[in-house]
Amino acid sequence: MKDLNKELHQRKANHLYRKRRISDGPQQPEMIIDGKQVISFCSNDYLGLANHTEVKAAFIKGVEHYGAGSGAAHLINGHSRAHHALEQALAEFTGYPRALLFSTGYMANLGLAQALVGKGDTVLEDRLNHASLLDGGLLSGARMMRYQHNAAEDLDTKLASRTSGEKLVLTDGVFSMDGDIAEITALANICQKHGAWFMVDDAHGFGVLGANGRGTLEHHGVATADVPIYMATLGKALGTAGAFIAGSDELVETLIQKARTYIYTTASPPAVAEATRASLDIIKSHPELRGRLKNNIHYFTSCCDQLGIELTNSQTAIQPVIIGDTQTTVAVSEQLLAQGILVTAIRPPTVPEGTARLRITLSATHSHAHIDKLISALDVIQS
Ligand SMILES: *Cc1c(COP(=O)(O)O)cnc(C)c1O
Repeated sequence: MKDLNKELHQRKANHLYRKRRISDGPQQPEMIIDGKQVISFCSNDYLGLANHTEVKAAFIKGVEHYGAGSGAAHLINGHSRAHHALEQALAEFTGYPRALLFSTGYMANLGLAQALVGKGDTVLEDRLNHASLLDGGLLSGARMMRYQHNAAEDLDTKLASRTSGEKLVLTDGVFSMDGDIAEITALANICQKHGAWFMVDDAHGFGVLGANGRGTLEHHGVATADVPIYMATLGKALGTAGAFIAGSDELVETLIQKARTYIYTTASPPAVAEATRASLDIIKSHPELRGRLKNNIHYFTSCCDQLGIELTNSQTAIQPVIIGDTQTTVAVSEQLLAQGILVTAIRPPTVPEGTARLRITLSATHSHAHIDKLISALDVIQS
């Protein structure tokens, strides 16, 4: 047996040790974390729906009707009317024939790759893809290849080198640690040219991007027909939990037959599906939430610009400040916390070595006064 303590000490020495913080109360800009009042800039609750009155009311009503838990997997007797109605609403909203719910986004990505490809096939991934897409590719048993970030030409070359077997191309829609948006139009063209499956994981685009919140496809004006597999999570902009994969009838039926992370797990509580349907209604009927988020992103980036705080070219709610060195990044995050600002330090292996960063995320619920406090704290640290 290996010495776990030795390994843990090594992590601490390398400033890679991970710890949880305890929050009291709901997800919102002003939170109590580890007993301390902070302004949070690290949530994925981009529209403030996690603590929205109507979403909470739908959740409570769902519990009253369906009880607390689903009691079984979807293929036993855990697939409720609530799950079914949400799947239909998601299919209609995204413009795909069908949608299938998964209990988490991580599981959706593992299940998808494993259901579609295996030994002798190839999975091609953007090198900055989310860990769940990488793990999905690895677990599928197919050969894994990683192409240069957002580089359609490199994908083209790599696809051309694979002459047999199925090919599955996976990309984040909005890259989760960088905030830039995938070049879906170019990637979809290359996939069509090579007869490859193409999947977009829109965890950070769904609900947020596009005039109607339909995500990265709507943002780029790409037709659903060009992206045969669309996946998004429900625990971010929608403020609840879970995920779905949308696509053709055959795709969804195949996943129901073969995706192990769909078959061998308990269905999420029906009340979560009811709450999510309420979130989706808000996404449709309150475009001003996206407007408020956009305004905050613009306000933050222009204030940083004025003060010479260096950002990337991200146009989304994810605004990384790349510091590079792990120890410095952790120290800066601690200095911010001392000033009542919660921004997490993102370190390797979540991001490539030498690119440790503060991952600032903005929400529609932040006020300009909140953002002013973040900016002045960043400015003090920088100088
Ligand atoms: C968060 C995230 C996931 C995982 O979704 P969960 O529902 O939290 O398991 C998958 N892909 C991307 C790009 C993500 O950001």
